[in-house]
Amino acid sequence: MDTGLKGKTALVCAASKGLGKACAMALAQEGVNVVITARGAEALEATAAEIRAATGVTVIAVAGDITTPEGRAAALAACPNPDILVNNAGGPPPGDFRSWERADWIAALDANMLTPIELIKSVIDGMIAKGFGRIVNITSGSVKSPIATLGMSNGARAGLTGFVGGLSRQVAKHNVTINNLLPGPFLTDRLRANAKAAAEAAGKDVDVVLMERAKASPAGRVGDPAEFGAACVFLCSAQSGFIVGQNLLLDGGAFNATMG
Ligand code: NAP
Repeated sequence: MDTGLKGKTALVCAASKGLGKACAMALAQEGVNVVITARGAEALEATAAEIRAATGVTVIAVAGDITTPEGRAAALAACPNPDILVNNAGGPPPGDFRSWERADWIAALDANMLTPIELIKSVIDGMIAKGFGRIVNITSGSVKSPIATLGMSNGARAGLTGFVGGLSRQVAKHNVTINNLLPGPFLTDRLRANAKAAAEAAGKDVDVVLMERAKASPAGRVGDPAEFGAACVFLCSAQSGFIVGQNLLLDGGAFNATMG
């Protein structure tokens, strides 16, 4: 399928590793020039070089914290009028909500709700003027099926999902779509770190914990980030203009429901 994306430009946030990187790579493989961000410059430059070498597209790396006004300004300066915006940032830490102060909640809301909304606000009128825009928010399976220890993630991401549900219906007539990708367990650094912490707490080997995660899924495995990138490409493709305000769960069937 020709996705119609060759020559387009994407801003992919939090993309030196993991799911963001997979989205940037998959878009680049379709001929999309990408601007990628992350806080750590070294890993970001390495990823930029890897994507350039693999695809030949133009890749610009902008180091900075996307959850800050300065980080967003730097990203937008490098990519003021993208055709595609992939919103992503690190997830909030786990814990007991009794120990979370207002500042903890504000940080979670900044990262997982307000930052994507600010970036959407900055680029959406340009997309409307062009008659083409694709916005994909990386959220979490926790939006559909809350994870008890990840209360801040459950709350902040649900707030983004509600906002996007309304906005997506206002802009769809301009061929600008906003959809959310909801990852279940994908084998990224974050999943490895979570598994390591769980393994230490349970006195198990990290590979055993990862195998248990894999077995818990109807698919019998954890997800490959490349599969996530491919889903992102599909939502960004020229053919996806009728897919509006959806929440696509990629979890190997772990969410048990007759209908999504
Ligand atoms: P990851 O492997 O840890 O990668 C995170 C990427 O985001 C890195 O490139 C990191 O680089 C960058 N980043 C983090 N915070 C940033 C910030 N404030 N500004 C700019 N860049 C930032 O994580 P992942 O597994 O891909 O997860 C991506 C998102 O999906 C997270 O929100 C996570 O909670 C969610 N999620 C993941 C899974 C999963 O199984 N992997 C499941 C459910 C939800 P720097 O650290 O250098 O900034």
